Parts: sequence; structure tokens; C-alpha cells
Amino acid sequence: MLLPGHLLVSYFFVDHVSRKIKKRKLFIITTLIFSILPDIDILFVGGIARHHQTLTHAPLFWILVFILFNLLALALNSAFIKTISFGILIGAISHMILDTFGMSIGLSWLAPFSWKDYSFLPLNFEYAGNNWWQHYVRSTAFIIEALVTTTIIVKRLSEGY
Ligand SMILES: [Zn+2]
Repeated sequence: MLLPGHLLVSYFFVDHVSRKIKKRKLFIITTLIFSILPDIDILFVGGIARHHQTLTHAPLFWILVFILFNLLALALNSAFIKTISFGILIGAISHMILDTFGMSIGLSWLAPFSWKDYSFLPLNFEYAGNNWWQHYVRSTAFIIEALVTTTIIVKRLSEGY
């Protein structure tokens, strides 16, 4: 999924589940940041083809970050850090779930123990090359992303936003 899709889906989700959370704005902002932060690896691996083969796309890495922040929150008795820890977890894991709808690369859910790609859609690694966009706009992944993001936008507009 592309960055706007990650942001829209995670915002739609956290906006609905966070209505009773005390530090709601902090939770939403943290979730949005971490819903796109895993893609920072694109800058370091030289393109789309291998960018899911890093720790930023390893669910276990984010679970460990969540645990560390949670332990820190417990040690400091900090609701602020605890809220951030849950934003990290929800944002990063929503990114992982959405990236599992890949057409050229999937997600290595068992990393770092196994870097095998998993996807809900058939994978064709050849599409991850130079013409990625041309393949993407004709793929099932793009149709799903377009439907999901359009549905969210229409729903939010109909609610008066
Ligand atoms: Zn990603």
C-alpha cells in the first residue's frame, strides 16, 4: 500500500477505537507516524524491490519496541510514554497488515527468523523492477487500495468532515 493509504486506513481505525482514550491526540499522531515510518527503509535499500527485507518491516521488531516503551512507561509511571507505545504498536502493525496486500513483494511476518514473503495476493517479483508503477496501477492490490481509500473518504465526507 502507498503512504496515503497507510495514513487513511490507520487514521480511520484509530479515530474509531480511541474515542475514550485520555491522551487521544497523542495516540492518533503517534499511530499515524508509525503507520508510515516502516517505509523509511526505501531510502536505504535503493528502491521498492527489497524494502520489505529490513527490520522496519519485521513485525517482531515493532513488538519489541512496544515492549521496551511499555517497560519504560512502567518504570517511569508515565501515561505519556505508555500512550506512545500503543501508538507505535497499532501504527506499525497496521502497516504490516496492509503491506501484506502486495503484488510484487509481500511481508516477512516471521523475520528475522525467515524472510519468506507472505501476501494475500499472488506475488510476481518481476513487477518490483523499474516499471513498478505501470504494473501497480493494473493490479488487484491497486484496486483494493483504491476501493478502501475511496470508501473511507466517502464515509468521512458523509459524516460531515
Ligand atoms: Zn511498507
